[in-house]
Amino acid sequence: MVSLGEPKWRGRQLAEALYHQRIVDVEGITTLPRALRQKLANEGWGVGRPRIAQIFTSVDGTERYLVQGQAPDGLTVETVWMPEGDGGEAGDGTDDSGSVKADSSSSSGRGWDRATICVSSQVGCAVNCQFCLTAKLGLQRNLAAGEIAGQVVAVLDRQGVEVGKDRVNLVFMGMGEPFLNYDNFMAAVRLLVEEVGLSPQRMTVSTSGIVPGIERFAEEPPEVRPKLAISLNAPNDLIRSKVMPINRKWPIEAVVDAARAVRLRTRERITFEYVLLGGVTDQPEHAAEVARLVRRTGLPAKVNLIAWNPGPGIAYSMPQPDAVETFRRTLAAEGVPVYLRRPRGRDIYAACGQLKRTVEG
Ligand code: SAH
Ligand code: SF4
Repeated sequence: MVSLGEPKWRGRQLAEALYHQRIVDVEGITTLPRALRQKLANEGWGVGRPRIAQIFTSVDGTERYLVQGQAPDGLTVETVWMPEGDGGEAGDGTDDSGSVKADSSSSSGRGWDRATICVSSQVGCAVNCQFCLTAKLGLQRNLAAGEIAGQVVAVLDRQGVEVGKDRVNLVFMGMGEPFLNYDNFMAAVRLLVEEVGLSPQRMTVSTSGIVPGIERFAEEPPEVRPKLAISLNAPNDLIRSKVMPINRKWPIEAVVDAARAVRLRTRERITFEYVLLGGVTDQPEHAAEVARLVRRTGLPAKVNLIAWNPGPGIAYSMPQPDAVETFRRTLAAEGVPVYLRRPRGRDIYAACGQLKRTVEG
């Protein structure tokens, strides 16, 4: 607005129209004078949200979207809608699998009482974790802040979510490493908090352990800081370096040290995500080691276990159900809060680590 020779507060009106009223065309922004709307249109400005180019629907109600980016490169990213969440992320007990209801019994009458949106931060990913399908794409490009926030707005619209009334959690756990696109990621969070009106306490960002990113994150004011999840995924540096080569640059201790600087809110905990790879990270001795590790950090923490989701061309195997249960019980017996993330939308390639812009249903 300033660059158009308009006063700064016109920018506020515009943000209000785009993110709060969610108006989808310049002409509809009636808070702006007609002449200004005309001028914007004449100069080629448009408003709107990313187009959902394709939708895949799972038998479990999960929807995976291919969302069209802003840039002319035509690249799409993936966003996932999970009615009733996945049992892992709210972190306040409200999202625990024990309280999940059957679709038909939701009191809202539209199939869900709460939901989680999984948001992408990059097209592809440069981090190269050995078990993750997104890694196979490499990094294609960063998403702009509007493309990150836009995924959320597009899904809120599609699902008819009423912000402030409906319980919606955001997890920045889609394609990409948010902390390698830090500025755009945080700008998107500020848009979602300050303009759309979502609470940062209902948002969780997951990082593979990018230490400089965690250090910056620790400096963010609590009004806009999401909760932090760290992809631990292994009981020690030896195994972690094999499955997540990034560990050679930033080993477990460095990641934990950086996380210590985050000033947690009352009852807030840091999540350690742990992907169970059959035979590789899912053994009872691994569980005991993870329990020691988590306790040694001294952090208020919980562990989210994720049974590995398979993908083409990745040579790991899924953990046996009894290995998962033994792992969970071992952690619990050691006094470590532990949750098991339900795989959502596996049949449509929507589950953790399966986002690769695949067009198979
Ligand atoms: N790049 C960030 C966020 C996206 S990945 C990160 O790595 O933390 C979100 C979670 O999915 C991570 O905890 C990751 O370890 C996990 N994940 C990746 N591939 C997976 C797979 N095939 N099965 C299960 N979880 C997987
Ligand atoms: Fe990137 Fe996360 Fe996949 Fe690792 S697990 S390759 S950091 S998206």
